[in-house]
Parts: sequence; C-alpha cells; structure tokens
Amino acid sequence: MHNHKKSKNKSRQNSTALFFQNLNKNGHDRIIIKDLINYMNENGLIKDDPRLDSFFLKINQMNGINEITFEEFDKLLNESKALFEKMLREQLIIPEFKKFTHQIQKIYSQVKLNKDGVVANYIPQLKKVSPESFALSICTLDGQRFSLGDHDKPFSLQSISKTLNYCLALEENGEAFVHRHVGREPSGHGFDEITLDNYKRPHNPFVNAGAIMTNSMVRPDLEPAERFDFVMKMWKKASGIGEPTFNNSVYLSERNTADRNFALAYFMKENNSFPENTEILETLEFYFRCCSVEQTTESMAAFAATLANAGHSPLTEQQVFQPSTVKNCLSLMASCGMYDFSGEFFFSIGLPAKSGVGGGLLIVIPNLMGVCLWSPPLDSLGNPVRGIEFCKHLVNKFNFHHFDSLTLRHAGKVDPRVKSSTKVRSSE
Ligand code: GLN
Repeated sequence: MHNHKKSKNKSRQNSTALFFQNLNKNGHDRIIIKDLINYMNENGLIKDDPRLDSFFLKINQMNGINEITFEEFDKLLNESKALFEKMLREQLIIPEFKKFTHQIQKIYSQVKLNKDGVVANYIPQLKKVSPESFALSICTLDGQRFSLGDHDKPFSLQSISKTLNYCLALEENGEAFVHRHVGREPSGHGFDEITLDNYKRPHNPFVNAGAIMTNSMVRPDLEPAERFDFVMKMWKKASGIGEPTFNNSVYLSERNTADRNFALAYFMKENNSFPENTEILETLEFYFRCCSVEQTTESMAAFAATLANAGHSPLTEQQVFQPSTVKNCLSLMASCGMYDFSGEFFFSIGLPAKSGVGGGLLIVIPNLMGVCLWSPPLDSLGNPVRGIEFCKHLVNKFNFHHFDSLTLRHAGKVDPRVKSSTKVRSSE
C-alpha cells in the first residue's frame, strides 16, 4: 500500500515535471503563468470553475508575478491535483479539446448563416428578444468547457424547465407515484393540446399538461415563495455554475395570456388526474414562474453535463440526482423532448434533447458531455431552427448518435474521446 502510494506520488512528480519542462521554453527553470493558463483554457479548464477556485486565488495572491519555479508550480496545482494530473497526462475525456472545439466553431459559424424561423410571440414578452441572439456552450464530464456567442446572456428557459421539474418530482415521490399521474408516451399532438391518455393522465412530463402535473408534485408542502426558492436552489445546484434569475415581465406576460394552460389544468382537475389536495391555482402560478426562470447557455450546458454524468455535477463534484432519476429523464427527453418532432429527432440525431419556446435547446450526450444552444427563431413545430441544424451537423461529424456504434466503421465519423495518434495506430 505504502509502496503503491509512493510510486503514485512519483509518477505524479514525473508528469508534473515533464509538463513543467514543456512549458519552460526559455530554459530559465521558470514558466510563465500566462502560458499555463492558456494551456488550461485550450483544454477547456477555465476561470470560475469551482474546482479551480483555490488555484486562481493563489494566482491572484501572487500580485503580478508572472513567472514561477517548479516548486511554486507544484504547490499551485496541489489542491486540484487529480484534475491537473488528468490534463497533464492528456487523459481528459476529450483529450484533444482544442481540435474538437475548432470543429464546433466551424459548425457554429455555418449555422449562424441560417436566418429562418420566427421568434415566439404567443407570450408577448418573448418576441422582444433579438432574433440575432445566438449562443452555444459545451461542458464535458471532466468539466472541460467551451462557449461561443451570447453565452453569458440569460435566456428564458420555458419548456426546458420541465426537465428539472420532472427530476425533482421523481426524487421527491418516486417513479411509481409520479407515473400514476403522468404517462411516458409521446402525445402525437402539439405541446399545449387538450388531451389525456386512456388512464386520464397527461401523455408525458414534457407537454404542458404533463409539466403542470409534475410541478404539482414538487414541494406542494411549501408556501409559494419557499417553493420557488427551492427550485432556484436546485437549478444552481444542478448546474454548478452561474446564478439562475427570474424574469418578472415574462412571467406576467405568460400569466396574462395563459388561457390554454388554465384550460389544461381545469380539464385535468375535472378528470381527477391530480394527486389529492392539489391546489390548482397555486400549481399554475408555480408552473408560470418556473417557465420564466432564465439561465445562460454556460450554466445550462453544465446542467446537461450533470445529466450526461448520471446526476453527478462535473463542476461541483456533488451527486445532485439519483442515476435512476436521470435515466428516466433522458429516456423521456429522447422520446418526447422535441414536441411533435421527437420521433424524427431521435431517428436522425439519436440524442436526448429538450427545446423551449424561448429558443433554448438542451442536448445530452450520455457519458460524454452536455450542450446548450440558444437562438430564438423557431420552426413551425416550435423548435429552434439553428439548434436543430447544429445537431444535424454535429452528428454528421461525430459519432454521437445513439446507434452510431453499429455503423461506425463505415461512416467515417470522428470519436473525440480518442486521440488522433491512437486512431491511426488502431486502424493500421
Ligand atoms: N411557458 C410556455 C407555455 O406554457 C412553455 C411552452 C414551451 O416552451 N413549449 O406555453
């Protein structure tokens, strides 16, 4: 045991030393901090990552010193040892991250040219958003992050909020109870259609009726303010980065034009679909508030990464949801997450995803990474035009479709988990 530990320490020393030598370009036995930070950025390890708090704190305390010795370097890495070691050994889940993000950038630029679609206007405040807004963020299981465009502007989550609320309802009530009240079948109708299944349940948690239902099961014991605080706290915890905000005018605008959602709730009440003692008006208010939460694509990509990682946040390293909760949520995102386009989307893209009328699109690549895009113009089914086009290019280039493993050898797609040098060797 002791020996094992010793040899592990030694090999850490070696990889740290080797890395130091690589960055020590001028041969002064010192490296330039900026070079180190650039290298980290290229690998997707960027500032405001909670795992790097102590690293950046120490850098700040150096007050302008821009070169460090090997001993200082070793100390600097100390608290985030495991993460740095993975990076130094090129063992992060996407080892050639710079190359990967270069491809993503190319797709992004291509998709940006697409000016089709119309910004949602049935909630008046939503149509005030510029159709030009465009953002993309990625977060891998190792917390490697990359963003483009308006990634720091909060956008209206709308239907994407249905993912978190479904997870919360499951965690609180268990699968059996939740699904006594909501089905798990694509509805075959628009997201706000007044229809129930044969058991008088809304079809799934991702149509409006189903989301109103799952919302009714999230902390109904709390008074409204506490209940909403709970959801905000959970967004923060599940994302691990950034602060969710609430857009009051979107909320008021939605509530003012919510005849259909009222109709859905009362239709379900009439059919005894809700759990006992559900307060209908309180549930509706809670639903409107949840739809009016805003986050940046950066935070939402990190949330998607928590889902991709079976409920464990790559950035805070906390288990936020049980793996079974996430499995259920991703299964329904795969079959029902894209409105009336869900079957088509899974056929051609093969990934769990959830869109919202605010123009957001959340995509989960299980065991690899989360992606979030934001571009307000929507197609006739209510999905973001650029978001969908991005997904098409993404799975054309990379082997991310759920069934790509079956055709991979013929399709010539790229697996970013594998270093290109290894790829050449394995095909020889
Ligand atoms: N808040 C919107 C509604 O209830 C959400 C719909 C959506 O994003 N598809 O109509």
